[in-house]
Amino acid sequence: MSVGTRVDVAIMGVRADAPVRRAGGAGPSDDGHLIMGGAGAAIPLNPDSPYIVRDGSLWLGETDLGVPVQAVRRPRFYDLVTADGVPYEKIAKLHGADVLATTVVQTCVRYGEADRCRFCTIEESLRAGATVAAKTPAQLAEVAEAAVRLDGVRQMVMTTGTTSGPDRGARVLARSVRAVLEAVPGLPVQVQCEPPADLSWITTLKEAGATAIGIHIESLDERVRGRWTPGKAAVPRAAYDAAWDEAVRVFGRNRVSTYLLVGLGEDPGELVEGAAELIGRGVYPFVVPFRPMKGSLAGRDGAPAPSPRVVREVTEQVAALLRAAGMTGADQRAGCAACGACAALAVAGG
Ligand code: SF4
Repeated sequence: MSVGTRVDVAIMGVRADAPVRRAGGAGPSDDGHLIMGGAGAAIPLNPDSPYIVRDGSLWLGETDLGVPVQAVRRPRFYDLVTADGVPYEKIAKLHGADVLATTVVQTCVRYGEADRCRFCTIEESLRAGATVAAKTPAQLAEVAEAAVRLDGVRQMVMTTGTTSGPDRGARVLARSVRAVLEAVPGLPVQVQCEPPADLSWITTLKEAGATAIGIHIESLDERVRGRWTPGKAAVPRAAYDAAWDEAVRVFGRNRVSTYLLVGLGEDPGELVEGAAELIGRGVYPFVVPFRPMKGSLAGRDGAPAPSPRVVREVTEQVAALLRAAGMTGADQRAGCAACGACAALAVAGG
């Protein structure tokens, strides 16, 4: 599958039936989960897209592109309910074919309208009743065990809304990782949080058993940070640098990642330069096209999706830098970079 086609479908979406989908929540949601060209793909479902899934293949209008596509089937663990009556599907979701993802704390101290990241819908899925506000370690362990046993899950992503304490959510992540690994020893788990004020939390997360960590800045451009992530922008870039470096020291090179969104008004050349610097310090820059999701402030305000040409160029350049550094998303073993479904980097060789 060409990088151009993969980027096009990531931005324009597809017409497809996808039983596994997310309507909102943390990360680039509002999509259906498919296996496209043999790899997991989280693609917006768009009834107006020129791309269609038909007869197990991807079509552009009347042209069969020869890319095999299957919908991810509804996992069996979605039919289960915890002893205290919570459907497993509200505790963790299947992403792609084999990734279990959960938002341990579904609220964020930065979700007031003035502070909220403009692309985020973390509390919308909570309002819609699709999830619960806080998942207990015991619930996560129960769901992870079932998802691995019944549906062949191979890695887990644990993110969190930012909490008010100086650990910024790391405490609850550490407890959750410990519980999951007691139930499923050896499952690769990635944790995602803001830079904790006390960097020793990074060691705590590693000692709890996490395989990889995502510390997501979303943009390296201070102007863009101020406009798109006004609450998070109060955490200075120097704090991210310190957290990334400490995370690489603790977790190792290429076990640390950050999201970089394309299409927030940044200079594409500067984005690639910034990605090169991150790669140089051992951090995987997960370059993802911005998605103006329903329920986000950006969606409400009609922010446009990025240009496919720019996303393709940035993706190809960053993938080339990753290849030159010998870093692949798969080597993270767990997390968004290892999954790759929200980006085109893997198709481009990163
Ligand atoms: S890249 Fe991350 S958010 Fe996207 S489907 Fe994979 S695990 Fe989920």
